[in-house]
Amino acid sequence: MTKNSLLQTSLLFVVTLILVMSLSILSNRIWGGKPEQLQQVKKPQVELEMTISQFGQVNELPNSVLKEIFELKAKSDLEKKLNEYGTPGQISDKVMKKLALASEHGSKNWIKIPVKFGLWFVFLATIYFLLRKRKVTPRLRKWLLSISLLLFGVVMGSDPNPMGTIKDAIHLYGTTHAIFPPRLIALAIFLAIVFLANKYICAWGCQAGTLQELIFRINQTDTQKAVIGKHLKLPFVLTNTVRFIFLCVFTLVVFTWGIDIIEPIDPFKIYKPGYLGISGGIFLGALFLASLFLYRPWCQLFCPFGFVGWLVEKTSLVKISVNYETCINCQKCVTACPTTVMDALLRRDKKTIPDCFACYTCRDICPTDSIHFSIRNRTFPPVDFFTKRHKDPAISK
Ligand code: SF4
Ligand code: SF4
Repeated sequence: MTKNSLLQTSLLFVVTLILVMSLSILSNRIWGGKPEQLQQVKKPQVELEMTISQFGQVNELPNSVLKEIFELKAKSDLEKKLNEYGTPGQISDKVMKKLALASEHGSKNWIKIPVKFGLWFVFLATIYFLLRKRKVTPRLRKWLLSISLLLFGVVMGSDPNPMGTIKDAIHLYGTTHAIFPPRLIALAIFLAIVFLANKYICAWGCQAGTLQELIFRINQTDTQKAVIGKHLKLPFVLTNTVRFIFLCVFTLVVFTWGIDIIEPIDPFKIYKPGYLGISGGIFLGALFLASLFLYRPWCQLFCPFGFVGWLVEKTSLVKISVNYETCINCQKCVTACPTTVMDALLRRDKKTIPDCFACYTCRDICPTDSIHFSIRNRTFPPVDFFTKRHKDPAISK
């Protein structure tokens, strides 16, 4: 590693983060006002002897909201007693559900969301075409990742995103028992993309994923070597266990205390720096620094969508597979793969296959075109495959 390349990589890393944050602040100002994140709904004060009108005054709820919550027909209904509407627990539940859904609806930008999904489809389809045509060079990969994070993160904002659809759905249900249908539709679309083509949405469309990947690729030469330090590959059993425990703890804490432990350290807040606290800033700084050496640390170790997507990935139609008739066991794909998945895919000796982020690095590096990203089923290597000598067609020519 030369002094120059070290300086260049460090500078690129810092400039990328500064650019993302400063442009995001600008973009948030242009789009204006909408918080685009879950608001905490306070538990209302309920006494059964109160009239609805008194209940509204105590909890600062306008008559229009009361009318909707209690389905009032006439103004005189405001004088009805709360005890006609159930127990304090039932009333409190009903009010919180309605308020949570109203606040969810009000916090979203309903023009931006469909436009963003439309752009996602066009962008992902374009990348798929480029990848199939083998046009994605290491340099172009960095540009595509930059365009993706600029478009879907900086310009279109942090919401919606694959992780948020799961995290916020658990939080909303855990704290208010409410279900917000538009979020479930978004989640279904993201999971449908995983069902169609592996972690394709994570690879090329997710705002936090593409930023981590860009940082990882910034610290990589065209021959897949790290510029600074070393690239690490953690064992999948470790990363997946941490990710699963994190999801369980998150869910437990939400359902028990109503606290969202991801919120302060949410990596998507890099596109909403105004909402980032000190602990979040420190965590994200460490996370993005770690991305230089570890492929997508958030995705591998913490992301709830990463875990759920990994489960759905088992049924993906289009996926990476190896053709053992032409493969020469040169192991180039295993070395080039940023995680341990290609090793598991090539060997087929483990029951659990790690996440494949559909980055195509393995396919691009294969000298015999033996790796496919297609609908074909994965086969197993012949028994003597790893012991016999394979002829390299490039050498035998
Ligand atoms: S796993 Fe990574 S890329 Fe996928 S949703 Fe989570 S943060 Fe985004
Ligand atoms: S290199 Fe291949 S196996 Fe590894 S994550 Fe990328 S697409 Fe999947």
